[in-house]
This record gives sequence, C-alpha cells and structure tokens, in this order.
Amino acid sequence: MPLDVKSTDWPRLGMRYLLKCLVCGKQYSMFFPRQLCDKCGGILEIIHSGEVEMGALRKDFWSYEPLLPEGEYKHYKLGNTTLLPTSGQDLYLKLESENPTKSFKDRGSVVEIAKALEYGYDEVVCASTGNMAYSISYYAKLGGIRATIFVSRNANWLKIRDIRDTRGANIIRVDGDFTEAQRRAIGYSRRKEAFLTGDYGYRKEGQKTLVCEILAELPDVRNILIPVGNATLFSASYKALMELTKLGLVRKLPRLIAVQASLTDPLVAAFRSDKEVKYQKPLTDAGAIAVGFPTYGDQAIEGIRATKGTAVSVTDKEMEDERKAFYREYGLQVEMAGVASLAAFRKIELNGMSVAVVSGGNTLKP
Ligand SMILES: [Zn+2]
Repeated sequence: MPLDVKSTDWPRLGMRYLLKCLVCGKQYSMFFPRQLCDKCGGILEIIHSGEVEMGALRKDFWSYEPLLPEGEYKHYKLGNTTLLPTSGQDLYLKLESENPTKSFKDRGSVVEIAKALEYGYDEVVCASTGNMAYSISYYAKLGGIRATIFVSRNANWLKIRDIRDTRGANIIRVDGDFTEAQRRAIGYSRRKEAFLTGDYGYRKEGQKTLVCEILAELPDVRNILIPVGNATLFSASYKALMELTKLGLVRKLPRLIAVQASLTDPLVAAFRSDKEVKYQKPLTDAGAIAVGFPTYGDQAIEGIRATKGTAVSVTDKEMEDERKAFYREYGLQVEMAGVASLAAFRKIELNGMSVAVVSGGNTLKP
C-alpha cells in the first residue's frame, strides 16, 4: 500500500471495492480490517469498481446487495419500510421506524457487523446518543459478538439502560457530548482491538438503500428531506444517487434537503455562509440529531450543491408539536428528531413530489 489500483485491474485482483481515506487520499485493499486511515485517522470511503449488475430498482433491502461492499451477509429482515402517502399534499412519509430497532441505523449496522465478523473480531465499539447503540447491540447480539457503547451525557438513559439489560451491551458513560464519546470510542478500539463501528464507511454503504427504496416506488420524486446529525444518511443518499446515475437507474436527480435542529445546526450554518463546517455545542433536545460537528459535513454540503438541494433548521418546539400531531394522525410514537423532516416540509416551498424520512419510533421517554 498505497494501492493506486486501476479499476481495470480489480477483477484480476479479486476485488470489487477498495477503501480510500477522505482526508489524505491513501488507499487500502478491501481486506484492510479497519474503518479509519492508519496514516492520518481520516474516515475511509468505500469505492466500488462499478462492475455490478443491477436490474430495475425494487422495494427490497437485499436486492441492493450488489451496491454493498462484497461480504458474507446474513439476510436478516429489515428495510422495505412503508412509503405512506399523506392526504392533500404532494408528500410521502418513509416510515423508518418500521426497522427492527426502529430507526434507519439498522441499514448500516447490518453491514458493519457483517464486516466485523468477516475480519474475525469478537467485539465492536461505538459512540451513541441512543439509537446507534440500540441498533449496533441488536446486530452484535445476533452475530454473537460483544458490543461496547460510549454514550454521551445527553443520551436518553432509559434507552441506554434497556440496551444494557436486554442486549447485554457494555455501556460506558462519558461526561461530554457526542463528539467526545466518539473520541473515546476510537481510543478504545485501538487499545482493545475492537472493531470501530458508527458513522463510518461501511454504515454509509448500508444506508444507501433508503434512497434506492424511495426511487423504486417513486421514480419521479423531486425532494427528499433527511434529518442530519452526523450526516451519514445524507451523504449515503448522495452517494447512492451518484452510483445509481452511473448505472442509468435515476431518471432525474431529486433535491436532497438536509434538516437540522435550529439549536444545533452546524451544517445549515456552513451551507448558508458558504464557509467550512464549524463545531457548535449541541443544545437541542432532539437527542438523535444533537451532533455539534457532523462527521460527513463536507460530503453533505457537496450533496446539497450537486442536487440543487438546501439545508433547513427547525426549532425544538416545531419538532415537539409535529411529534404530537404525528401521534394523533398516525398513532405512532416517534422522538423529536424523527419528525424533523416533516416539520421542515411545512416551512419551505417545494415543487413536485416530496418524501420526508421519518425515523426513531422509540417510545421510551426520559
Ligand atoms: Zn488518511
């Protein structure tokens, strides 16, 4: 290494993808068993050879396996979530709360845990404000490996206790925010030889399937509203659109719209000011998107610009009101961040058919 493999050499080398550092550009083979660059600590992005056979898009999570990093996947039931039309509006709701642990995180966790097992790890570690912990510990338990979770001060303690009691995860509370929990999880992964999971390359790959499913059902969708914490789902959606475009499977690029909490909106601030993403102390009560510095901030900005999308902030009150209205309308309990995209839809003028990603069906309240 560095590899610098020409894509025409990939079949000969038996590789369908390689890993490339988003910071320094160093390349690694698909057999490199970590998610961060050895040289600079940057996040590794999965680059596919592009030699894939994909038929028409379907609403079926595992039909997108050709777009995932080649691996030994157990075909657990997940994804294929309902795309619900709303009455009187050009709006559909993608109900990600239907996933096994009630959020879109499952789409990524299933890929990360498969990779951890393939590389021979017996422990995974991640940082979480709650939903990631649920998802990782669920798939770790299915895979028969241990999970250690660093939780931030603002994490929902009821959720965390439930994860410890029902999933057997090892929970470490951090006196700091999510960014600090993330730093501690990285340190632990190096010291203990545990596979680092979280908002990194393999998770991003699994989360690409969400946009694929939307396009399978609504090929003419014009706007997709996505809640942003670390921006993994957002940048995954952009990556999926680019890959599907190359395969000739997108008719017209939908606009990607990033939604953040007005009390913690570093991405919105960066987009509006046309400056770098800067850390903000997370002050919003919407725990699942209370991230002061989005890991995939730069990629998200690129995705907004490339799709002619935008970034919108919603207040905590708007989310809380939306959450209650959503419960009255649909009988589903979701957390504040889960309906952020729906609150954003009401604030901006959009042309054409829109989809709002609704997540976080967890009913536990602090
Ligand atoms: Zn690097």
